[in-house]
Amino acid sequence: MARAFLLFLLLVSGVAFGFKAGTHRYIAEQVVLPYFPGCEKEIDAGAVAPDSDFHDTARHHCYPEKCMVGDSRYCPEKNDCPARPLAANYTTKAEFEPEKCRKAYYYAVASHYLADTHVVFHNTVQEDESCHSGLEEKIDKAAGKNPENFEVSIACSAPKGTFAFSSADLRKTISDVQDFTGLAPRKMQEDYSLIMLAGVVLAGALLVMRRRGLLSRLKHNR
Ligand SMILES: [Zn+2]
Repeated sequence: MARAFLLFLLLVSGVAFGFKAGTHRYIAEQVVLPYFPGCEKEIDAGAVAPDSDFHDTARHHCYPEKCMVGDSRYCPEKNDCPARPLAANYTTKAEFEPEKCRKAYYYAVASHYLADTHVVFHNTVQEDESCHSGLEEKIDKAAGKNPENFEVSIACSAPKGTFAFSSADLRKTISDVQDFTGLAPRKMQEDYSLIMLAGVVLAGALLVMRRRGLLSRLKHNR
């Protein structure tokens, strides 16, 4: 009975879940993990905490000033974007948190709220809920298989139209979360600088060996 009532509440309040768990974990891992290796567990937990622990899905939307769909019936009347300040709060919390994996957890929570604002049905009102969660499920499935290269779409009746999401949209979401939290893409930069450093050290070593005639001696000894 209680369950049925909850379901009823969900249906009438137009609660919006946002990306599914797998997509949220992927986004958080891409953004946060390079800075906090070893905190996978906390990052995974933070990535889904707003949906699974906080149960505040009524605040995961972001109604922008300009309407994102062609039909005004589904356009929010005023801009109202609680997800962004929530993401900002958790980013600040992360910045002040001294414990490494706790810090990673807060960043992952921030990434959840900000990522949800990138789902088109978090920018609309009164949309068909099966279409809304249908798109999110398709994204989760496709990104779970190959996050680097996918494209999904769903044909909806309310609002009428076909709505798509691709790996390029996912990359854009990730880079927005990186900008917002200040966690710039780090892993790659580090890798590049390591390769550069290795190259410089090797070249330097070769030069020193040549100067000291070590190379020619090595050749003679053979
Ligand atoms: Zn959410």
